[in-house]
Amino acid sequence: MLKTHYCGELRKEHVGQEVTLAGWVNRRRDHGRLIFIDLRDSRGLVQVVINPEVAPEAHAVAGDVRSEYVLQVRGEVVARRPGTENRGLPSGEIEVRVLALQVLNPSKTPPFYISEEVEVEELLRMRYRYLDLRRERMQRNMWMRHRAIKWIRDFLGEKGFIEVETPVLANATPEGARDYLVPSRVNKGSFYALPQSPQQFKQLLMVSGFENYFQIAHCFRDEDLRADRQPEFTQLDMEMSFVTVDDVLELMEELHAGVATAMRPDVKVVRPFTRLTYEEAMTRFGSDKPDLRYGMELVDFSDLAGASEFSGFRKAVESGGSVKGICVPGGAQFSRKDIDGLTSFVQNFGARGLISAALMGEGDIARLTEEDIRSPMHKYLPVEMVKAMAQRAAAQRGDLLIMVAGEKMASRTAAGSHHRVPLALDGLRREIAARLNLADPKTYHFALITGFPLLEWNEEDQRWYAVHHPFTSPVPEDLPYLDSDPGRVRAQAYDVVWNGVEVGGGSIRIHQRDVQQRMFAALGIAPEEAEQRFGHMMEAFEYGAPPHGGIAMGLDRIIALLTDNEDIREVIAFPKTKTASDPMTGSPSPVAQEQLDTLGIRLAKGSRAAAP
Ligand code: ASP
Repeated sequence: MLKTHYCGELRKEHVGQEVTLAGWVNRRRDHGRLIFIDLRDSRGLVQVVINPEVAPEAHAVAGDVRSEYVLQVRGEVVARRPGTENRGLPSGEIEVRVLALQVLNPSKTPPFYISEEVEVEELLRMRYRYLDLRRERMQRNMWMRHRAIKWIRDFLGEKGFIEVETPVLANATPEGARDYLVPSRVNKGSFYALPQSPQQFKQLLMVSGFENYFQIAHCFRDEDLRADRQPEFTQLDMEMSFVTVDDVLELMEELHAGVATAMRPDVKVVRPFTRLTYEEAMTRFGSDKPDLRYGMELVDFSDLAGASEFSGFRKAVESGGSVKGICVPGGAQFSRKDIDGLTSFVQNFGARGLISAALMGEGDIARLTEEDIRSPMHKYLPVEMVKAMAQRAAAQRGDLLIMVAGEKMASRTAAGSHHRVPLALDGLRREIAARLNLADPKTYHFALITGFPLLEWNEEDQRWYAVHHPFTSPVPEDLPYLDSDPGRVRAQAYDVVWNGVEVGGGSIRIHQRDVQQRMFAALGIAPEEAEQRFGHMMEAFEYGAPPHGGIAMGLDRIIALLTDNEDIREVIAFPKTKTASDPMTGSPSPVAQEQLDTLGIRLAKGSRAAAP
């Protein structure tokens, strides 16, 4: 090797040794006679000192060295003079007195600082991703990813799980997104689909008798990108035979609490994990992925508001909709501008607006007077109504009540009724929590959600869609309604939510041919089409398919949570931009006509990309 030691690993016990190091110039300081270089490699920094009297040639070379040059240095490890130690640096008690120095490769001036934690424009970071990844924070993120995956592999290995790779060139499997297609040269006119998940293969592995499968699986979904979505991403995919919902959820608690504690001993994991049904989560938080680190639960004011003079309230309730709200602790100090901001915020969620009432004054809420209520809608808010709302919300003086009204929305699913109010209040709850710093970053609070509806009616397409996917088993006692009243059928499905982020979901599966056929029928898939697309699954179920279930976790989201990031691109080495492209390699890119000819593909008029 070109080095005997790693820079960041030198300590007091190396004092007196001659070492050879190789790494990058993090920073160079010229003190006239002495030149100091912080030399960096993958394991950290060490200070090297070049003294012209000790090493005149090295000193001459070091004079021209710049940031990010790659150097090899030979020198002696010496203790730093008392008073010059750097406590902030693990190698800060020592330095390397240079005997010889060689430039292995110079560097152009990087487009952004590598050695400092500075905000860099996204496109520039992506264009020079190899330099972005050289930064300490990104190195830390990638190491966290490596360590967490290793922990998970060891954990599941000990539990008797086998890791099996499944094909990337496959047939489409429905997970609700568009497929990435790959044309087949050998079978012209036919296409593979990159897997949205290994769903079908992992179920078939259960039929094969493996019983406990997992995979760190690459998945592909062509959908609109957001901070927590990438066209290709990684799942921790699992499937188990002979398990119930509870078995899967217990394993999930052990796995998540385990990896979180091992990776982030500084963060408190709330245990046991909170279990909520879908209904409960929607009623209390307006969301099936609530952040449980703070309160501000939704309160139903429909009965109180419905009796008021205010037509906005009355109409909502009379139509079968609702008036719900939250109580913002200490929110009475919000300015008019703050409230206006929140109003436009809820309008983004389809709500007409919000009504706020600040509870001023002193003393028990029961003694609230008209003068104590501050609200832009003051005249519509009789003191008795506000008092009753405040009491229901367990509000105190100094708090702010916020109410949102919404008319009933057409929906054939029990769970889908008057969706707008909860949606707006969920958004509001998150927004206010962020503004007031209510979510403790040193707490991991998980929720395990069950009791999802199996199907969801889509008004536009006039058909039912699977809420999870078509292989999800109904709750057995709801099975009779699958054909007659699909909207009331609950699924044996579950989600894992971590600090308000949905990190994964899964279900107990259908393992009988006839039930699977009825499910396809409920989804409006004709028997011939079902046979053509999923015949292999139904056939496999006829050869002794064990009852089975599983789950898949968004691994990138998990790593983001473990590294306090919101954007999963911070924990993926080479992610794509929001337009699904890579400014570094230039992908996707046009291909030569010849290549298209080989595949039997002709581009539609106007769809040819400009040559690079
Ligand atoms: N295949 C599902 C998904 O990707 C997860 C599962 O059901 O195991 O969401």
